[in-house]
Amino acid sequence: MNDTEGGDFIRDIIRADLDAGTTQSVVTRFPPEPNGYLHIGHAKSICLNFGVADEFGGVCHLRFDDTNPAKEDIEYIDSIQEDVRWLGFDWGDHLHFASDYFEQLFDWACHLIESGKAYVDDLSADEIRAYRGTLTEPGKNSPHRERSPEENLELFRKMRNGDFPDGARVLRAKIDMSSGNINLRDPILYRILHVAHPRTGDSWNIYPNYDFAHGQSDAIEGVTHSLCTLEFADHRPLYDWLLDNLPAPCHPRQYEFARLNLTYTMLSKRRLMQLVQDGHVNGWNDPRMPTISGLRRRGIPAAAIRDFAQRIGLTKSDSTVEYALLEHCARELLNKTALRRMAVLQPLKVVIENYPEGESEMLDAVNNPEDETAGSRQVPFSRELYIERDDFMEDPPKKFFRLGPGREVRLRYAYFVTCREAIKDDSGNIVELRCTYDPETRGGNSPPDGRKVKATLHWVSAAHAQSAEVRLYDHLFTSENPGAGDNIADDINADSLEILRDCQLEPALADAPMGETLQYERLGYFCPDSDSTPDNLVFNRTVGLRDVWAKIQKQAAK
Ligand code: ATP
Ligand code: MG
Repeated sequence: MNDTEGGDFIRDIIRADLDAGTTQSVVTRFPPEPNGYLHIGHAKSICLNFGVADEFGGVCHLRFDDTNPAKEDIEYIDSIQEDVRWLGFDWGDHLHFASDYFEQLFDWACHLIESGKAYVDDLSADEIRAYRGTLTEPGKNSPHRERSPEENLELFRKMRNGDFPDGARVLRAKIDMSSGNINLRDPILYRILHVAHPRTGDSWNIYPNYDFAHGQSDAIEGVTHSLCTLEFADHRPLYDWLLDNLPAPCHPRQYEFARLNLTYTMLSKRRLMQLVQDGHVNGWNDPRMPTISGLRRRGIPAAAIRDFAQRIGLTKSDSTVEYALLEHCARELLNKTALRRMAVLQPLKVVIENYPEGESEMLDAVNNPEDETAGSRQVPFSRELYIERDDFMEDPPKKFFRLGPGREVRLRYAYFVTCREAIKDDSGNIVELRCTYDPETRGGNSPPDGRKVKATLHWVSAAHAQSAEVRLYDHLFTSENPGAGDNIADDINADSLEILRDCQLEPALADAPMGETLQYERLGYFCPDSDSTPDNLVFNRTVGLRDVWAKIQKQAAK
């Protein structure tokens, strides 16, 4: 496989390690903390870790960093696995949990204590903070720093036994309180937490911190390249110090890349959780959420997300990607793959006066002009139809080529029709169009006299149509960089969801399978929503047809 050739700095490093023989076989891992649902930022990391493993013939582990039971839940463990699998990746036998290593981590902590490189500290959290110093001032040694290894071991075992309350003591690495890197000022390795763990239950009263679990888990699993986001660069010296001072089976290398930021979006589980809890959205998988489950429900195909991850590439400095690029990836893929259907979102009734009452016929409609193998389907046509309300104007301006009084247009796959009269209700609203059709234009073909029309409209047969609810979405936030101020609520877009009822769909859409995204001709891409019931079909708009990204590119080129 040679799509690694263009590559990026991570792939360059891996290729060099393989060439030099310092790496025999690539092992990566995706290490989520199960404290929320995955978002599109995680997809970048997933595509990178599983992607390089795949490209270089290695393996990628899925490892839960489940070291903070106070915030973690089985629901998240399950959703994360579902999302990674849906994105198209497979961890094989390599499903791991940091909690599987708790016993080993405890032994290693004892090893550090015995070698005089860790100690139990009785300072409170506030005192530890005060002793830590600042970016410009060195920290101060804790008065408990010089405890003997024996005393430390005994206290640490008592911490494990549950002899002390939460927060009474911590285990710290003994490194350097005056280090320029605050992460090296005797970082906390273990804290007391009398909280049941989703997997280990009540067996532990102490839990390791991220820094004493992540690199250690990497080493236990034989990870070769530990890829994480830039905010961990300052932790790398600690990552290395710990592995250098433990009898670890190997010493993986950590590399950092820039995290994904996306316009109109917040990518942080904590803040996404807040949106759910404050009721700004209907759950983690609300189609407006940038979560993998939200994007899936919105109808964005997994392949479009993988394509997006590839296009944004990898860099070592932070930047923000346009949301429109994600939509562009979806649109480009769906244009090739999505079945075309006809649906009328804002129906206006049309009566074809010269079409026989009570009769109907089936017309041939192409499923996907971009894909011959998708074939065609039959669409019913009859005397009463629906067209889109804004495809008619009583007094059309110059550039409006669609239907108006006395005008002729093509109904896609059907006939040329001419509008004879617009019927209004008492308040002057147009409620119905009376039209005639030309039987010689069956299939939407030009008549023998060669007459042409300037517009082709979509339509559905009223008697055969399936009524449905259609949900249209806009950005969840009005700001390109939401949450920059103090209050997230200030940036919320009050019009991010519009619900249309009594939309009229061609009959084939009643059987659209869950998980498939289709094109409503002239309108955009839509998918059935899981809220659908036999009595109320619900569709989501995935994206419209108008390509904002293409416009941005064009402007940039100018
Ligand atoms: P969040 O702030 O959303 O909770 P996190 O980094 O705390 O994110 P983890 O579950 O610890 O979430 O992340 C798992 C992996 O995903 C980490 O390696 C992390 O670097 C990566 N990751 C998280 N957010 C992004 C992002 N926006 N872009 C790229 N990678 C990300
Ligand atoms: Mg986190």
